[in-house]
Order: sequence, then C-alpha cells, then structure tokens
Amino acid sequence: MRAECRESSTLLHPDAGHVLSFDREGRLYTFYDDGILYKRALDSTLHWRRREDGGPRERGVLTREEARRVFARVSGFAERAVEELDPACAERIAREILPWTPERILAEKERFDRIYRPIAILPPDQYFAIVVQATEGCTWNKCTFCSFYQGRPFQAKNAAELREHALAVREFLGRQLLLRKGVFLADGNALALSRSRLLPIFEAVREVFPGREIFSFVDLYTGERHDPADWGELRRLGLKRVYVGMETGLDELLAFLNKPGSARELIAFTRELKGAGVSVGLIVMVGVGGREYAARHAEATIDALAQMPLDADDLVYLSPFIEHPGSQYARDRREAGLTPMTLEEIEAELQRLALQVRALGTRAARYDIREFIY
Ligand code: SF4
Repeated sequence: MRAECRESSTLLHPDAGHVLSFDREGRLYTFYDDGILYKRALDSTLHWRRREDGGPRERGVLTREEARRVFARVSGFAERAVEELDPACAERIAREILPWTPERILAEKERFDRIYRPIAILPPDQYFAIVVQATEGCTWNKCTFCSFYQGRPFQAKNAAELREHALAVREFLGRQLLLRKGVFLADGNALALSRSRLLPIFEAVREVFPGREIFSFVDLYTGERHDPADWGELRRLGLKRVYVGMETGLDELLAFLNKPGSARELIAFTRELKGAGVSVGLIVMVGVGGREYAARHAEATIDALAQMPLDADDLVYLSPFIEHPGSQYARDRREAGLTPMTLEEIEAELQRLALQVRALGTRAARYDIREFIY
C-alpha cells in the first residue's frame, strides 16, 4: 500500500491494479479497479467505464445497491491503509476518509438534491467547475434534438436566492473547493437574464467565491440581447468564457433542427464577445443531418469558424451526435429520408474536422455528452 497525501487530494495505491482518489473532505472521487474506472458524482452516483482489448469504450451507472458494495470495498482499502501506512498519512486517512461509511457517502444524494436541481450538462472543461444554478432550464427548449431540459420551465433565482444557493454550494463542496477552479453559471441559458438581473448575480458569485473566473452557456438569440458594453461589464465582473451551441454553420441544417440563428449572426456575435475580451467555446454536432448533409455541414461549419476571430483562448468542441429514438429530430430525420451516419463515419468526420479547426489556430476537442459528470 502506498499513499500520496497532497494538499488538494489523497491518493491510495493498494497494489498495481487499484488506485483510489479522495477529496480533502475524504469523499471518494475516482476508483480504478482492475480495468474499470469508477467516478463518483457529487450526488454519489457511481459512473463506470472500461475498454477491453482496444474495443469500444463501455460505460454505465451503478444502481444504489451496486454503488453501496463498491463504497464498502473503498472503506476496506481505507481501513487497510490506516493499518499499513506511516503515522502522518494514516492519521489523515483515519480522520478524513474512514468516517465516510457507505451509508454516509450514499446520503450525499439527499444533500445534493437539497441544493441543486438536476444538472443536465456541462462543457467537458467545466466538469471540475463549481456549478452555481442561477437559472433552471432553457428559455427556448424547442431544438428538436435536445432533451436536456424537457418538462422544466425556465426559472431564475433572484440575487438573494442566488447568494443563499451559492453559500449552500460552498458548504457542500467544503475542501473539495481545493480541486475546483472556476464557477459555472448554470443551467442552459443563465446569461439570458437581463443586465439588471445579471449584475447582482455576478456580484453575489464574486462575494461567495472570490477570485474565481466565471463561465456559462449562452445561445445566440439570447446573447444578441446584450450589447458590447454589457459583455465588457460582465467580463470585468469575471466572465471568462461563454459556450455556444453552434451545432452547424449550415443555416439550412440549423433551421431543420429548429434552432434559431444563422452563421452570419453567430460570426457577428463571436466578434462582439471577443471584442469585449470574453473567450468562446463553440459546440458543433458531428453527424447531425446524416450522410446527406455531412459534406455541406462540414464545409459551412469550417467556413463560419474561419470568419471568427478565434485564438488559443477559445475552444471548438466536436460532439459526436447521438440521436434519441423518441425525439422530434428522429421523426423529422425519417420523414426527410436522411440516413444516420455510423459511429465509425462520425469518428472519421470528427478527426477530419479537428484537423481543420486546429489549422485555423484554435483548439479542437472531443465532447462526448455521455461522459458528463458533476
Ligand atoms: S437552445 Fe440549447 S438547451 Fe435550449 S433546447 Fe436548444 S440545444 Fe437545448
């Protein structure tokens, strides 16, 4: 048994096949178990993934009972560590990790549910942000492919509610804050709020989490409601990057997805944001529209990106498109006679697009929404 007692985390290495990591509250974060990686979400849901012999990556979520058994094994490793390690490390493990019995760690779900409404999605570089839910749902909620906020009407917290929520988040995360960097203002469209409502929200976030940069999603039709001066003000209050669901640079395909906006408007919007010093993360769906749209979708998307002032501070996320069988998109796609791309075709397309995006001088990264965890 070896251990690393770091400032922001504790790592246990019982043997070559096992590695466990914990936050400074002593709560499990990851558990590598002989080829399977478990990750604990803040509500103590255990996500697992593995890849066997170079095959496709498999993933899933454990039931509460299965999770309980894994947490019991984790407790067993911690008990062993206390017996076998040197006193300094053993004392930390006994004080921070041992009190987290399987029952207590599972009960984190109730704590989480008191603070948060379900968090549907985050950009991958924000899985380690501090999520502050300023709003709930999405103001539009009508894109045919999107099920993130279905059945959840858009609601917003006022500044006092937001402050109370942020304080509860801070208390819940405790010393896990040492592992987390910026603040992500959720949900789908927090920046849809008017300037007069956003400013006190930003002030409250800055008061509770001083010195942390702020990130958020914004959709084009929302973003256009703020003028360049507003963006400059939000930048001064800590807004670092906004993430925009671009989906495609092809207007015809965007209209097919029932998403408002156009490539021309998005180009103008990114220029405005960059002019105010706010960087952008643009999300493109690879494979949407099927084989029939693939070439035009790729060409128009790269063409639109090339007209934006993107640099190394920005990000283009390429997200393999996943069709939900009962969605409006699936019905429209069948009606339009579009052929879904295979997983292999989507992956090949993603690699091609990544090269083209990088050639524009900005960063490209894969965004698999199935990997989302908070
Ligand atoms: S705007 Fe974004 S969050 Fe809202 S429905 Fe469309 S894709 Fe979903």
